Amino acid sequence: MNIAADLHIHSTLSPCSSLEMSPAAIIRRARELGLDVIAVTDHNSMANCFQAAAIGARSGLAVLFGMEAQTREDVHILCLFQEQTQAERFNERIYALLPDVKNNPEFFGDQVVVDAQDNIVRHEDRLLLNALDISIPDLLELVRLHDGVGIPAHVEAPPYGLLVNLGLVPAELADAVLEISCAARAEGVRQAYPGLARHPLISSSDAHYLRDIGKAQTIFTATSAALPALMAAARGGSFQVRYPEPHG
Ligand SMILES: [Zn+2]
Ligand SMILES: [Zn+2]
Repeated sequence: MNIAADLHIHSTLSPCSSLEMSPAAIIRRARELGLDVIAVTDHNSMANCFQAAAIGARSGLAVLFGMEAQTREDVHILCLFQEQTQAERFNERIYALLPDVKNNPEFFGDQVVVDAQDNIVRHEDRLLLNALDISIPDLLELVRLHDGVGIPAHVEAPPYGLLVNLGLVPAELADAVLEISCAARAEGVRQAYPGLARHPLISSSDAHYLRDIGKAQTIFTATSAALPALMAAARGGSFQVRYPEPHG
């Protein structure tokens, strides 16, 4: 069956994201758009994605546990998990690798953890927009140890794309599924980087505002919306990227 996925969405926890992006509002919008599976992927933290998954479970939308990690090389990598316990353990490991720098909300924006009714639970004090003290290979290993999948994000886009910062796909990502930004198109990226020939190129919205959710979607032909099924479809080339018309 066809599974419409947007696997890169920021919530109120990301300082660069709109305060309208509560887990409940994200789920509502994703359901309106007819998405089958999403991932809430804030910078270096999963503090809102557990709430999103709980709301998703109540409303019949599959929500993967996710994070957009920033490695020591200043490369953004989506880290996706199917299992909550593994995701929680991974999240704890990541927090310990985050520099102990206080957020300045006036400069970077608020980092807000909210509940299912959009009430503020707490503000995350530590600045999430920062490089973790971990290299790309070590992060990928940590993701694997927690049964997750690492997908380099917006690989062609400055300033945090893998190809922009490294110029190539390193050996430890030889078999990786890659994400291109919603502004790019696979043909153009493949022309610019012929080394990508073997890599499936998926795309998601990287939404920071509700109106941007689903702006790019990957439609997987998969047996279910579970992460292993989606990745098997990606690796087998059983997917298409779609860019629906802008919506209000
Ligand atoms: Zn990013
Ligand atoms: Zn992002």
